[in-house]
Amino acid sequence: MKPKIYLSSPHMGGAELGYIYEAFNTNWVAPLGPNVDGFEKDIEAYTGAKHAAALSSGTAAIHLALILSQVGYGDEVICQSFTFSASANPIVYQGAMPVFIDSENETWNMSPEFLQEAIKDRLKRGKKPKAIIPVHLYGMPAKMNAILELADEYEIPVIEDAAEALGSCIGGKKCGTFGKCGILSFNGNKIITTSGGGALISDDEGLIAKARFLATQARDPAPHYQHSHIGYNYRMSNIVAGIGRGQMQVLGKRIEARRANFEKYKNYFEQINLRGYKVYLLPEPEGCYSNRWLTTIIIDPSENGGTTREDIRLALQKENIESRPLWKPMHLQPVFSGAPYYGSDVSERLFEQGLCLPSGSNLSDEEWERIFSALQFVFRS
Ligand SMILES: *Cc1c(COP(=O)(O)O)cnc(C)c1O
Repeated sequence: MKPKIYLSSPHMGGAELGYIYEAFNTNWVAPLGPNVDGFEKDIEAYTGAKHAAALSSGTAAIHLALILSQVGYGDEVICQSFTFSASANPIVYQGAMPVFIDSENETWNMSPEFLQEAIKDRLKRGKKPKAIIPVHLYGMPAKMNAILELADEYEIPVIEDAAEALGSCIGGKKCGTFGKCGILSFNGNKIITTSGGGALISDDEGLIAKARFLATQARDPAPHYQHSHIGYNYRMSNIVAGIGRGQMQVLGKRIEARRANFEKYKNYFEQINLRGYKVYLLPEPEGCYSNRWLTTIIIDPSENGGTTREDIRLALQKENIESRPLWKPMHLQPVFSGAPYYGSDVSERLFEQGLCLPSGSNLSDEEWERIFSALQFVFRS
């Protein structure tokens, strides 16, 4: 069997080990230290957010953002349905209820139309949502202007899930900096990785200070251990942050490579489509810049002689090449079956017809050949 080609594997830049050695040499293996401070500064400089807290995961960042938005037992939080479960799970950690919103077709992210419908309906039922979580899925920026307009009108804070969109922008402004706060992820498959980690970013200094406090077990200033809040162990370690500092140096290159992947697939499918197929890739709307974390395709069997996304996935799998259906919407997940949903069938259709293709920034020429020759088995005629 040929070696596996992954959907998105870690891609080190070279400088990471230097920062880790430095941490060892100074015995700053723990706790927080210069790498954490340096990584936070790097994130601030890159995103343009005034403040950043490096955390143990993106999920932890969402959890803290909800706590700091005073989300508690019995509350409701609006969340994009078409996303990874980590966008919604922390709502339930807080004893609150997610209210799911469908996507629109232009960016595949939260539909402002259904968002408005949901806010109005929840208000009518007597409950004002405590926060809105839009997601920039696969790196494509959500319609933040329209979402923020509604959020402002109804005075509901926005927590931007930019876990997949580090480096993506709208009108030159980085995703994650539009809402009250934004969250980033450095999980193993993201555009850069610290092996595992995340960050909360915001212009609100007080908010980030509170996040740091809660993330280090909420220790009140006192010589003994004194607590007036429930705390969490959510900080990033100084070793892990060293990987992050190295990765930040190559982030620009990683985005270029991911965007080049998209172009490669686009050119390929343009050729395929000339032969009578209709494989669709999501273009960037005017003013939007996507990091193209993963290249995704939509294939409607009724327009492609019965060819399904499963046909493609299985053909790739046979060659030991990983691909994956698009996210299964949260309103279709058994664990969230009781949650309200506002929308139609947009995200459902994306799930049924969509596939994420191998999109690592480190794919070799040989691997590309294997990918395209496996695809050739599906698009034979
Ligand atoms: C990866 C991801 C997260 C969670 O990040 P972790 O660092 O893995 O906890 C949250 N939301 C989305 C959309 C993600 O893709």
